[in-house]
Amino acid sequence: MERVPTCPICRKPAAPRPGNLSAPFCSERCRRIDLGKWLGEEYRLSVPAEEAEAARPPSEPDEDRADG
Ligand SMILES: [Zn+2]
Repeated sequence: MERVPTCPICRKPAAPRPGNLSAPFCSERCRRIDLGKWLGEEYRLSVPAEEAEAARPPSEPDEDRADG
């Protein structure tokens, strides 16, 4: 049984070089997706949910509540 390399992006069979210039990806499209992942992680600042929550001011009790 011959091993067919699969595209790391879409898991479809990816033809090897030199027939497929986008190897190890199945197509130029998947190659760009993989490239975009790397660039995206470098340039995009994703704030984890926890930090976004911590950035919010803590909920304080109403001090100037006219009570009594
Ligand atoms: Zn693919």
